[in-house]
Amino acid sequence: MNRSTFIKISSSFLLAPMSMKLNELKNWADKQEITDKMPVLFVGHGNPMNAILDNQFSRKWQELGKELPRPKAILSVSAHWLTRGTHVTAMKMPKTIHDFGGFPKALFDQQYPAPGSPELAKEVQKLVTATEVQEDFEWGLDHGTWSVLKPMFPEADIPVFQLSIDYYKSPQWHYDLAKQLSELRRKGVLILGSGNIVHNLRMVDFQNRTNYDWAAGFDSKIKSFLDSGNHQAIINYDQLGTEAKLAVPTNDHYLPMLYSIALQDKKDEISYFNEQMDAGSISMRSFVIG
Ligand code: ZN
Repeated sequence: MNRSTFIKISSSFLLAPMSMKLNELKNWADKQEITDKMPVLFVGHGNPMNAILDNQFSRKWQELGKELPRPKAILSVSAHWLTRGTHVTAMKMPKTIHDFGGFPKALFDQQYPAPGSPELAKEVQKLVTATEVQEDFEWGLDHGTWSVLKPMFPEADIPVFQLSIDYYKSPQWHYDLAKQLSELRRKGVLILGSGNIVHNLRMVDFQNRTNYDWAAGFDSKIKSFLDSGNHQAIINYDQLGTEAKLAVPTNDHYLPMLYSIALQDKKDEISYFNEQMDAGSISMRSFVIG
């Protein structure tokens, strides 16, 4: 045996167990990722002031931030980013968007300087085949996203990126697209749908003195469909008559919920929080899946 043969044999001998160990480690890591799926959130965000008010809603968001496993990143589908086509924010540092009017300066002063995730934006482009997802470098974090995340993860140190809602597509189309994002749960991404199940701004009563039967009725109907896993009835909400017409006059705040429920697996449980109605015509019902 010459010297070079000896080196080849000994090095392959040394490498074999080494590579096996690496493989084992990889399998273990893969299994960890499969079992440790991130929960999915739907949050009724309601009034933008919830971001800075100390109330029952914001307190629950604060608690949730401590209870949830720490995500590697957060993908938000907000009622406030409606587009033609589907876009994903891909900038390194998304700006805080104050997309509202008539609120105190204190709300406009709020910043949520979380980094973005250009890498995960590319991942979304790969995963979604229902449409061609376009990278976006103009948007940022609208209040559907930051008003909830600021109380929930106040450090703003978890990357956040947003997926837009193509407002020219049907509820079924959105539900089907959302299913293609399921892989992200295994990669430690917290998917957040941010809207409101009942959202009728024309009927709001900021004194909170009004209880609309149609609002409570529609909200509890949707809850019963969520409980029984009847997603089709939730997708076809427009067949629920007058209550639906009043509760969902436009579906911008309803559609984010479809993104959340589409990601529910058979084994995932659903637990509710902030089940109250706010200002009469806004349901704050929110839930965690998984
Ligand atoms: Zn809103």
